[in-house]
Amino acid sequence: MAADWSAVESETIAHLQALIRFDTTNPPGNELPLAEYLAKVLEADGIAVRLLVPAQNRAAVVARIKGTGNKRPVMLLAHMDVVAVERDKWSCDPFGGVVRDGYVYGRGAIDDKGMLTANLMAMLLLKRAVVDSGEELERDVVFLATSDEESGGAHGMKWLVTEHGDLLDAEFAINEGGRIRIIEGGQRYLAIQTAEKTSHMVTVTARGPAGHAAIPLTGNAILTLGRALARLGEYREPVTLNETTTRFFRELSRVWPVEEERMAMGALVSPDAEQKARGAEILSRIPVLDAVLRNGISATKLVGGVAGNVIPAEASAVLNVRTLPGQRIEDVVERLEHWIADPNVTLAISAKGEEAPVSDSSSPMFEAIASSAKTLDPPITVVPYLSTGVTDSAHLRRLGIQAYGVLPFPMEQSDEERMHGHDERVPVSSLHFGTRLIYESVRRVAVGAIALSAAPSGR
Ligand SMILES: [Zn+2]
Repeated sequence: MAADWSAVESETIAHLQALIRFDTTNPPGNELPLAEYLAKVLEADGIAVRLLVPAQNRAAVVARIKGTGNKRPVMLLAHMDVVAVERDKWSCDPFGGVVRDGYVYGRGAIDDKGMLTANLMAMLLLKRAVVDSGEELERDVVFLATSDEESGGAHGMKWLVTEHGDLLDAEFAINEGGRIRIIEGGQRYLAIQTAEKTSHMVTVTARGPAGHAAIPLTGNAILTLGRALARLGEYREPVTLNETTTRFFRELSRVWPVEEERMAMGALVSPDAEQKARGAEILSRIPVLDAVLRNGISATKLVGGVAGNVIPAEASAVLNVRTLPGQRIEDVVERLEHWIADPNVTLAISAKGEEAPVSDSSSPMFEAIASSAKTLDPPITVVPYLSTGVTDSAHLRRLGIQAYGVLPFPMEQSDEERMHGHDERVPVSSLHFGTRLIYESVRRVAVGAIALSAAPSGR
């Protein structure tokens, strides 16, 4: 068995290196050559592939291992494009696929070529270990590699949804968006993203008398806007827990390394209102936790003025407001207007996000991921997770697909923070863990539970 997995591991590293060496910096993306590589690898193992070209040099790869059709398909999704690099800040070639000190370095090693590799390997292993040995899959397993995730998705998921919606038929999907975090003492927790916030833009506009700057006027729009923004700085939306965040904090309250925060997590989910408030107050001091407790409001842009000697008639600011599932942006805006309480200041929703339903955290897919993780790492804690960032899973959820965000590579926070940063890297051992996690999860949901001892063979 060990020998088989070691062959699988060398194959995995070789594919990740190859994927990193395709420069798919978006813009412009240029994902087509990478897509052709994926198609070639999949076809070599007898897996049916469709290569789609949404625009020049852009691509989508849809590969499918057929099942009996008793159950609806399961989909493995990853994107092929990466964000830009600042080459001089890297200690190695960001497109070299360098393996050094137990890490694979390169742009995309974490986001999202590592997962793309794990998905690719899961397909190959399913074909070799399950299908080719005569076993049946109860559902199709669909591999989807997209373009343009990092730059809006017009040539990626958005295009697929409008032009090829039929290819997006699945009961479950696994995508990026979650995490496996290594916390103090080597303990790990797996956060499976089942929901995400919805992002909106709100413009705050202050109006006043315009005129020559030589004659100072009361009601100056810039000063009015300043006062409104100062008021906003003191405002916070109320704490709102939902099923996902309640479970998230309850489970983490058993393993969280910092005592005060661990206690606060327990208090937050207790039935006692006073304890709840006390817990929320402590956790709110940590920005990443505060952001999942309530609708978030960040001021992001200022617009105003035409010349240094002219008092403008208006000045405005842009707020990025991220709402929790089930919360209406219109209600948030109403509360903000009430809080600012200035007739010369108006708020308008300039871009409204579309909410997506929440994926079920007790579905067979969620259970398959959780039980696979526990087989690979028995003490691991598994929690459903609400992400504050938006992912392509929202598109899938709106199509009725239960999507789960899993970044399957155990990482410490410091490594995770290299995502989109310099010297992005994935620990080799985590790459292998993640590959087995994806493979095992899909196998469980497509075939049923099988012991891990049935090792697949590498190439
Ligand atoms: Zn990504």
